[in-house]
This record gives sequence, structure tokens and C-alpha cells, in this order.
Amino acid sequence: MRILITGAAGFLGSHLCERLLSEGHSVIGMDNFITGNPNNLAHLSNNERFSFIRHDVSNFIFVPGKVDAVMHFASPASPNPNSPYGYVNLPIQTMKAGALGTHNSLGVARANNARFLLASTSEIYGDPLEHPQTEAYWGHVNPIGPRSVYDEAKRFAEALTMAYHRFHGIDTRIVRIFNTYGPRMQVDDGRVVPNFIKQALHGEPLTVYGDGSQTRSFCYVDDLIEGIVRLLYSDVHDPVNIGNPVETTILEFAETINRLVGNPAGITYQPAQRGEGDPQRRQPDISRARSLLGWEPRVPLEDGIRRTIPYFKEALGL
Ligand code: NAD
Ligand code: UDP
Repeated sequence: MRILITGAAGFLGSHLCERLLSEGHSVIGMDNFITGNPNNLAHLSNNERFSFIRHDVSNFIFVPGKVDAVMHFASPASPNPNSPYGYVNLPIQTMKAGALGTHNSLGVARANNARFLLASTSEIYGDPLEHPQTEAYWGHVNPIGPRSVYDEAKRFAEALTMAYHRFHGIDTRIVRIFNTYGPRMQVDDGRVVPNFIKQALHGEPLTVYGDGSQTRSFCYVDDLIEGIVRLLYSDVHDPVNIGNPVETTILEFAETINRLVGNPAGITYQPAQRGEGDPQRRQPDISRARSLLGWEPRVPLEDGIRRTIPYFKEALGL
């Protein structure tokens, strides 16, 4: 296939480019580098099946030649208001990438009669009242809270994707991605994995927001990409959760990072982001991915963190 990947210079987009090239596809990467980094694609520049277009997907997208699949990953993705890359600090760009960017990407799929895959998120469940979250859960989202620029844009993106599927017959897929980590995460993007690993490598105390009792379920990037590729090859049109169901509190997670890095500096507690809509619990129910895609994660958290630490060391020049 000849595949357009938006958000290609980001963390997940760059892994996806690499994986699809390794399977023999041609890939056109697209990005405007608002939260991504051209270095993430540098190792692909000599691959003759890879090309790159610098472009903001919120504007009309033109791709020369036939496209067989469109994978829409372009969007800021960090909720942390302390980071310049946090979507709270890029509110209009985030809404436009989710709304106009999805519309333009679907337009490319329609013009080419191509399949389409939307990168959605566990954030569409908001601060969930059901636990774990199945795809049947409709969510608990504040439409005007600080996180709403991301949550509502992704909810709109899902609705638009289903509208194109139902009304125009486009061959669509929706992946609801839960917290994923690994090499090529932006060092300063403010999400918990980069923050904690960076702090631990610098020998600083880890900043736990609130009392650390909030939970997350962390998936290693290779597992996630495997699930997404299986979804791309499938004919499943309903949303599918992809994530690791092993749930941990943020406090336990901080202790794990300190132990694996060998950081004696411990933990420092900072104000909770609850008022900012920080979900208290998050864990995917992956029954649908198991039964429809035959997928489940394989990399345990500690193994994945061990594989991720060298990247951060190098990125920080340590
Ligand atoms: P990232 O910030 O590393 O990558 C996003 C990429 O999109 C960046 O390279 C950025 O420059 C690009 N981009 C943003 N707006 C753009 C625009 N208007 N035009 C062109 N490019 C644009 O983040 P990521 O973690 O790789 O996330 C990728 C996708 O996966 C996002 O859609 C995100 O919502 C989704 N997602 C990620 C996670 C996760 O845990 N990593 C969880 C849920 C959903
Ligand atoms: N968090 C934290 N310290 C940090 C960064 C994040 O305690 O330095 C917490 C944050 O409040 C949230 C969890 O870690 O409860 C995961 O945050 P992240 O920004 O990775 O993304 P989210 O899962 O909220 O989308």
C-alpha cells in the first residue's frame, strides 16, 4: 500500500512509519513539527519508499499520486499545562488538528477510495465513571474544562469518521489509544513517563501530582504499533481500545522508575491536577482487541521502561 501518515514526526507516528516501511509499504509522512521532531524520521530519509511533506493538516491536504490508506495521528497529545507542548497551551491548534485535520484527512481517503484509520484516545472516556473502560462506555467529559480542547476534538473526530463511514461508505477504523510510552517521546512534553525518567536520570525527586493514588495503565510502543497495524489490516469499523490493562498508581509508578534508574532522590508531591480534569482511574478493557484482532500486549512495564531509559539518556546528553 501507499500510506499517508499524519503526525509522522511524532512519537507514535515515527514508529508507525518505520513498521509499515519494514512490511514493504510506501509511506508518505506529513507533519508541521508543532510537537514532533524531524530527528525522529532522520533514519528513514534514505529509504526510497519514504517521502515527507511538511504541512499543517488543518489546511487542505494535497498528496500527489494514488493513496491506499490514510492514518491520522497529527495532534498535540500531552495534557501537562507546565509543558510548552501541552495541548492546554496549544488549544486552538489542538481543536483544529482534531476537527479540520480529521476532515481534511478523511477527504484524502474519500478522494482516493482509501482506507482510513483515526488515532483516537482513552481521553474520550474523560474522568470515567465505569472501570475498566469498554468501547461501549460513552464517557464522562467536561465540554468546557481545560482538557476539553483535546477530548472534544477527538470525540468530534470519531463522530466525523463514523459519518464518513456511514454516509460516504469510507472504509474507516478508530483506535482508542491508552497511555503509551517508549523511545522518541518528546523529552519535554510533560507526560508522566518523560517527566519521571528525565527527573530520575538527573537525580531529582519525581514530581507526583496529588497523592499519587490516580491510576494509569502503560503500554510499550511496540505492543501498541502491533495492535494498530492489525486494526489497519482488519475490517473492524467500530472503535477498538488498544493499551495495556495492567493498572498501576502513579505513586507506584514513580517508585518503579526510581528503582530502575537507581535514583535516591525520592518523590516530591505537587498540587493535584484534579481541577484540571486529571482522570482518577484509567484502564482499558481489551476484550474486543483480543477477540477481533487476536492482539494483546506482551511487554511488561519494567521491561519496557528498561528499553526506554537509554533513549532518554542519549536525548539528554547523559
Ligand atoms: P506527538 O506529539 O509525539 O506526535 C504528534 C505529531 O503530530 C507531532 O509530530 C506534531 O508535530 C504533529 N502535529 C500536530 N498537529 C499537527 C498539524 N496541525 N499538522 C501536522 N502535524 C501536526 O504525540 P504522540 O504521542 O505520538 O501522539 C500521536 C497521536 O496519538 C495523537 O493523535 C494522539 O492524540 C494519539 N494518542 C497518543 C497517546 C499516547 O499515549 N502516546 C494516547 C492516546 C492518543
Ligand atoms: N503526573 C505526575 N507527575 C508528572 C506528570 C504527570 O504525577 O510529572 C500524573 C498526572 O497528574 C496524571 C498521570 O501522571 O495523573 C498521567 O499523566 P500524563 O500527563 O502522562 O497523561 P494522562 O494520562 O493524564 O493523559
